[in-house]
Amino acid sequence: MTVMTQAPARPQSGSTFESLNPATGEVVGTHPVQTEEEVRAAVARARGEAAWWDGLGFDGRKKHLNAWKTLMTQRLPELAELVSQEMGKPAADAMLEAALAVDHIAWAAGHAKKVLGRRKVSSGLLMVNQSASVAFKPLGVVGVIGPWNYPVFTPMGSIAYALAAGNAVVFKPSEYTPGVGGWLVQTFHEAVGRPVLQLVTGLGETGSFLCRAGVDKLAFTGSTATGKKVMAACAETLTPVVIEAGGKDSVIVDADADVEAAADAALWGACSNAGQTCIGVERVYVHEKVYDEFVSTILAKASGLEAAEGAKIGPITMPSQVGVIRSHVQDALDRGGRALLGGVDAVGDRFVQPTILVDVPEDSLAVQEETFGPTLTIAKVRTMDEAVEKTNATRYGLGNTVFSKANGMAIAERVRSGMTAVNGVITFAGIPSLPFGGVGDSGFGRIHGPEGLKEFTYAKAIARQKFKPMINLTSFERTEKADKQLVQVLGLLHGRGKKK
Ligand code: NAD
Repeated sequence: MTVMTQAPARPQSGSTFESLNPATGEVVGTHPVQTEEEVRAAVARARGEAAWWDGLGFDGRKKHLNAWKTLMTQRLPELAELVSQEMGKPAADAMLEAALAVDHIAWAAGHAKKVLGRRKVSSGLLMVNQSASVAFKPLGVVGVIGPWNYPVFTPMGSIAYALAAGNAVVFKPSEYTPGVGGWLVQTFHEAVGRPVLQLVTGLGETGSFLCRAGVDKLAFTGSTATGKKVMAACAETLTPVVIEAGGKDSVIVDADADVEAAADAALWGACSNAGQTCIGVERVYVHEKVYDEFVSTILAKASGLEAAEGAKIGPITMPSQVGVIRSHVQDALDRGGRALLGGVDAVGDRFVQPTILVDVPEDSLAVQEETFGPTLTIAKVRTMDEAVEKTNATRYGLGNTVFSKANGMAIAERVRSGMTAVNGVITFAGIPSLPFGGVGDSGFGRIHGPEGLKEFTYAKAIARQKFKPMINLTSFERTEKADKQLVQVLGLLHGRGKKK
């Protein structure tokens, strides 16, 4: 057994790197750091497969994707164990993550034909002699760069939808979870028998090679800072990008809320996955009428909750994140905040204990920046307007949660975020028909749902002439009479409204 106490020195491309168990430091696996040539070769192999995969049509691809889904489901415990070893979350949480990912494969495979297949659209009165239709065609080869925090669920939001739309995919998993990435690609090969899904492993540099390797679109999930680098690299070749980046989600608790349920959701949303969730809860805004009740309820629920090996909260996966979490807690305390639970001492070398902060200024790091640990700020607000205003006052806009009996929908509509859960937490991520993605520094583009399928396609419009036009507009033989007729028709169609 090899035990490492620190992150390994950064290896060079062409060599190998190790993935480590973040709870123990044990080596889980060794993987190649792939070179630019190797990444280009993987893209070329994928391109060779893309025509076959596209040629299968929606029904053929659905059969193969369902075979993959079935194989994954049969081997779910093995996958959950690997996720748990490489990134540290409890195996039961890994199982939940993988189960949701499987459900997404099924949805994408089952709905691609209806969402993307050719359909007729109105040709309008001016072009009544035309039959108009639109279909959504695969782009070719899609590059997917993934993070480590949900190493199955997150990249699958791009991989499954890109594949169902008819693309081949080259997947670069995070350097913290390359074994999980390898497992996904290996099971795809076993189920489908063709390397339509390719794997490349390595560190950030290998990801940057993928951005420049001639893929037709790059779907990135990770931090906002890396997202900017990915976009800059892709801009060199006008490669379009999807950016799924960080967040700073809030829970808003109204005066009429089920406080018990809200406290439960806020605690789980903040501390599950050791707080390492892009749509995790990092802030709570509670109506003054239920503030005291909310605080006492969440503290009671948090007592006994512990981060440790084998506990409900696992380790912090990336050693460098521990320093970020500590700095956010320290900054909050230095600026007048109080820790009702945890605090700076709760931030250990590998594990961070649940930390609940109050009286934290709104412009402090713990309120504005992604902490990515099992920490939470709670603030009292006088109105829901104030809660919405404060929620919207960060550069992020990924998800959020609202607890209110009467006004949940109205409050949700005003939050500037890609998704909101009302009287539940993170529920939108498990609904495959809902699009997932952010605004602002949380990125752009959508995975999941019909929008997620369309994201990996281009729209192909066709206008087919059904009969000769009454007025031929697209010819040099167009007459003066035809021009007059056009003006008359236009007057009838659009000229009869009231002038302002
Ligand atoms: P990260 O940005 O450090 O790395 C993400 C991926 O990018 C890794 O595979 C990494 O190797 C690769 N990479 C690094 N440098 C690169 C470069 N220059 N060019 C190309 N690729 C490069 O992020 P992380 O620490 O793995 O993940 C955590 C972050 O991901 C958090 O900010 C979290 O909020 C975010 N996240 C967002 C979503 C979402 O759907 N919006 C989902 C999960 C995680």
